[in-house]
Amino acid sequence: MTSSPTIAAAAACPAALIFEARGLTKVYQMGDVQVHALRGVDLDLPAGEFVVLLGASGSGKSTLLNILGGLDVPSSGTVRYAGATLQLADDAVMTQYRRHHVGFVFQFYNLIPSLTARENVALVTEIATDPMTPEQALDLVGLGQRLDHFPAQLSGGEQQRVAIARAVAKRPQVLLCDEPTGALDAQTGVLVLEALAQVNRDLGTSTVVITHNAVIAAMADRVVVFGDGRVLRIDCNAHKKAASELHW
Ligand code: ADP
Ligand code: MG
Repeated sequence: MTSSPTIAAAAACPAALIFEARGLTKVYQMGDVQVHALRGVDLDLPAGEFVVLLGASGSGKSTLLNILGGLDVPSSGTVRYAGATLQLADDAVMTQYRRHHVGFVFQFYNLIPSLTARENVALVTEIATDPMTPEQALDLVGLGQRLDHFPAQLSGGEQQRVAIARAVAKRPQVLLCDEPTGALDAQTGVLVLEALAQVNRDLGTSTVVITHNAVIAAMADRVVVFGDGRVLRIDCNAHKKAASELHW
């Protein structure tokens, strides 16, 4: 290889694997203490799957997700995204990667309180290259009737679905969700999971959902079980459950 490929060029020829992580470590220096958040992670994720990343609190799940999404960098090791090595990309390419290829959903919805659902989504569609309309994105998550509501007029689960609409309106290749149902009761959590499954099905968006709720693993194509900074186990579900079949 003579030069590092751009993310855009690599993404134009779809690879079977959306992510290939090799030897990822992450060490945080806290004064005299070193915290080993990742202790050597090798992980291949096929494109288009719904992946659940399961593991105890502190096991390194968020650290891994942030590295996959280009929000953080590993201490050592590499991530290939659609064939392009993120660690070889310059800042401009990484900005493109985060802006156009990756959608993030976090536990707390981070909506702008003074903007309606439609306007919160429009913030992103205005800087995207081939976005759906805010109305389409909100329709996809079942909020086509809530376009002009402000966050304070929506339930927690509805606010999270606005956040999902905002994340997917730019048609990202991957959707990375860190404890998206962590702040929700089971009933509204299921509606949020249904919205994520719908996006994965309709748009083919490769989706990774972090949770410490093992029940959610039943709706995944692939379950990555994480512990102490390592992948402990990977299970594939021959039969996925619908989110509506989950109870906790
Ligand atoms: P999880 O998401 O599975 O709960 P994290 O990836 O957040 O785990 O954290 C893994 C470990 O790394 C934990 O011990 C956590 O305290 C530590 N850690 C995470 N982020 C930082 C940081 N910015 N500075 C120091 N330590 C951190
Ligand atoms: Mg976490």
